[in-house]
Amino acid sequence: MKAPIQTNAIDFDSARLQRLGFGQQPLLLERPVSVAQMRQQLGQQLQTSLEAQQVLELFFREARRLVPLDALSYVHTSSDLRLEFGARGHHSLTYSLSHQGEHLGELVFRRNQRFNDVEQGHLESLLSALVFPLRNALLYRVATQSALRDPLTDTGNRIAMDQTLQREIEMSRRHLQPLSVLMLDIDHFKQVNDSYGHSVGDKVLKTVAASIKSQLRNVDMVFRYGGEEFLILLSNTPKEAAAMVGERLRFATQAEDYSVNGTDIDLTVSLGCSTLLPGETAEALVRRADSALYVAKREGRNRLAMAG
Ligand code: GH3
Ligand code: MG
Ligand code: MG
Repeated sequence: MKAPIQTNAIDFDSARLQRLGFGQQPLLLERPVSVAQMRQQLGQQLQTSLEAQQVLELFFREARRLVPLDALSYVHTSSDLRLEFGARGHHSLTYSLSHQGEHLGELVFRRNQRFNDVEQGHLESLLSALVFPLRNALLYRVATQSALRDPLTDTGNRIAMDQTLQREIEMSRRHLQPLSVLMLDIDHFKQVNDSYGHSVGDKVLKTVAASIKSQLRNVDMVFRYGGEEFLILLSNTPKEAAAMVGERLRFATQAEDYSVNGTDIDLTVSLGCSTLLPGETAEALVRRADSALYVAKREGRNRLAMAG
C-alpha cells in the first residue's frame, strides 16, 4: 500500500527503505510507520479504558495524527451519550457504527477542508480498531449506569459526581487545562411543591434536568447534587466561558414550559461558578461554587455569581 505524503503517514515498506538510507524525507521517520501498524497500536491503546469518553478522546487524538481533523462528535442515543471534541468544521464524514446488528452510535469527523478518498480510507481503517473498545465501553456504561445515576432526573448521582470530579481534576492538572464548576439551584422550589403537589415538583425537576442536558456537549457531566440542586462540570473551560454557559443554562431553564393543567409555572434558577485553583481539592472547588450560589440567592435570585 502506498500512502501519499500529505496524509502524514507512510507504509511500512517505505519506512524500511528510509531506514536503509533510501528516500529523502528523514522527518517522516518520526511518524507512525503504517496505517495497519497504527491501527494495531490504537486498538491496544483503546482497550486501556472502559469509559466511552476516554476511549473516544483517545481515538480522536490518535486519528488526528494520521488525518488532520478539526472535530469529532459522537452520539449514542439509547444510552444518552453525546460527546464532542474539538472545534467545528464545514466538511463532515458521518459513520453509523454497528457490530453484528447492534447499533454502536453515530460518529462524525469534521474539518474545514474536504476529505479525500485516501483520508477516508485511513479513517475507516482506524474505525475498525474503535468498534470493540467502544462496544465494551457501552456495555460497561449500561452495567454501571444504574449504580451511578439518579433515576428521577437521569443525571449522575453523588457517587458519579465524586468519581468524575476526581478524574477531571487530575486531567486538568496533567494537561494544564482549566476546569470550572457550576452549582445550579431552582429558586423557590418549595413553593412549586406547596402549590401544585410533589409529583408536579418531580416533573419540574425532570424538565430542568433535561433542559440543562440539552445545552451541554457532554451530558455525563451533570449531577444531581441535592434535592433541587445540580452540579455541572465543565472540563477545559476557563472562568469567562463557564459564566457564559451558566447564563445559557439560566435562560434555557427559564424558557421551558412547566405548565400544569393550563396553569403556567414561572421558574427561575440561580447559579454559582468556580474555577479550579492550583492545588485545590474537589471539596474546596465545590464549596466555592456553593458559596457563590449563596451570594446569587442573597442578591435576589435568577442570577449567576462568580466565586471569589
Ligand atoms: P431557594 O430559592 O432559596 O432555593 O428556595 P427553595 O424553596 O428552592 O429552597 P429550599 O431548600 O427551602 O427547598 C427546596 C425544596 O425542594 C424542599 C424539598 O421539599 C424540595 N425537594 C427536594 N427534593 C425533591 C424531589 O425529589 N422532589 C420534589 N418534588 N421536591 C423535592
Ligand atoms: Mg432552591
Ligand atoms: Mg437547594
